[in-house]
Amino acid sequence: MKSQGFRDTGRIDRRPARPGAYAPSNLANLMRCLERDPDIAVPIRPQGAGSSATDCNIASSGTTVKMSGLDRIIRIDALNFTVTAEAGVRLGALISTLAAEGLELIGSFDQTERTLGGAVASPCMGPGIGGQASLLSTQVLSMSVVTADGKVMKVSDTQQHLLSAFRLSYGMLGVIYELTLRVRPTTTFTASHRSMDVDTFAHVADRLAGGNVGLKFYLMPYRNHVYLDLRHYDTSNGNTYNAPWKIKDWGQSTVLPNVFKSLNRVMPIPSVRYQLMDTLSATTHGLVNSKLVRNGNNAASGGRHRRRKPSNLLYSTWCFPASDFSVVVKAYARFCRETFAHTAYRCDLPAVGYRVARDNSALLSPSFDEPLIALQTISTQKRGWEGFALDLSEFAENWGGTPLFNQTLAPRDAYVSESYGGRMEFFKKIRRQLDPGGRLLNPYLARYFK
Ligand SMILES: Cc1cc2nc3c(=O)[nH]c(=O)nc-3n(C[C@H](O)[C@H](O)[C@H](O)COP(=O)(O)OP(=O)(O)OC[C@H]3O[C@@H](n4cnc5c(N)ncnc54)[C@H](O)[C@@H]3O)c2cc1C
Repeated sequence: MKSQGFRDTGRIDRRPARPGAYAPSNLANLMRCLERDPDIAVPIRPQGAGSSATDCNIASSGTTVKMSGLDRIIRIDALNFTVTAEAGVRLGALISTLAAEGLELIGSFDQTERTLGGAVASPCMGPGIGGQASLLSTQVLSMSVVTADGKVMKVSDTQQHLLSAFRLSYGMLGVIYELTLRVRPTTTFTASHRSMDVDTFAHVADRLAGGNVGLKFYLMPYRNHVYLDLRHYDTSNGNTYNAPWKIKDWGQSTVLPNVFKSLNRVMPIPSVRYQLMDTLSATTHGLVNSKLVRNGNNAASGGRHRRRKPSNLLYSTWCFPASDFSVVVKAYARFCRETFAHTAYRCDLPAVGYRVARDNSALLSPSFDEPLIALQTISTQKRGWEGFALDLSEFAENWGGTPLFNQTLAPRDAYVSESYGGRMEFFKKIRRQLDPGGRLLNPYLARYFK
């Protein structure tokens, strides 16, 4: 009689691969993780700094590949203005290394603890000045990727269509491990600040959104107030000092969220608490924006390099057509006040907005067809947040908002497909070719991209 193989005898059971996290420190480790190793649980999801608001960067039933160990800056070419770095390098580390060589990233980006790979695989946007691209991914010239079955693949700007699919691909086409991107000599801009009520802002929004300035603003709907930060290039400006920008970033990104978190704990009377919070926000924004910060560059204005993600912050970002924003901003302020009146929930931090230039360099670019205003609603208050995010989503859908797969909470599936239309279908085709088994799709992404 033919001897039975172990697999049929029941004597040895192969243990099912356990879900877990994997932190490769070099390319060989990363390739091993993606090879069809039965010990590695699928789906496999790359993760950068984990600062996204949605489940796009985790695989709770599979393997989360933490990329932050691959963090070398490989080469700065000051002659051709390029930098090559591994995907896990933090934007802050990259920005300071470039600054030492008199170079900067093209575009102004907050949240400098995010990784280069995460910032290219998902939207990393800031207020572009004039027609300047707002997405960091636009500057990518080439990338090296480990595919869903563990092979190395190079994508360069000679393969424009493929490169455009890989930019903002959310790790669905492969795991990026090395990138080369365009940089430029440090360029000084002038920042000017204004504050006004929402109606006045709505009145000038069209002009600002179409103008040659970089537009960023902080919106306090319950105070009916907007703080503007307008940036433009100026040939006759003075020195840029880093300290005022650091103080500004510290005030807005660290002090306010931490103080508000404490106030939420210790101050039980909502009306007093919100009064205090709004006064603190107004004072901080008024002080740091109007008095401190004048000249800047993309390195100084990018904020401090924090290693930890601001885990106490809840946020959801929607992008609205810039051409409609004068109407949308008034409706948004009204929506916030009415929701507060009905549900007693409100966000405690000001919403942050900025203009995103039209950019069709990535297949899944949110501003593929027209310039947008990204509006990021932020809060530290957990109780009631989910209901608020659902209401916000309904509001945004009614006003033609575009959702982002990593930053927008609770958009309806049908609405997402409608927003990205044929481009999403095309992306799905490429995804199916590169990853037919769906090894890189977690349930969250499968909802949209299966
Ligand atoms: C307080 C706060 C403020 C923010 N402000 C802004 C803002 O002003 N502008 C803005 O654009 N965003 C902002 N964000 C959103 C967030 O920082 C960005 O989306 C960021 O680009 C994500 O980078 P990450 O390294 O954290 O990536 P993660 O969140 O870890 O991952 C993002 C996506 O990229 C994929 N990915 C990560 N690494 C790789 C890789 N090596 N290869 C392939 N795929 C990969 C992941 O699978 C995931 O789908 C903010 C977030 C917070 C918390």
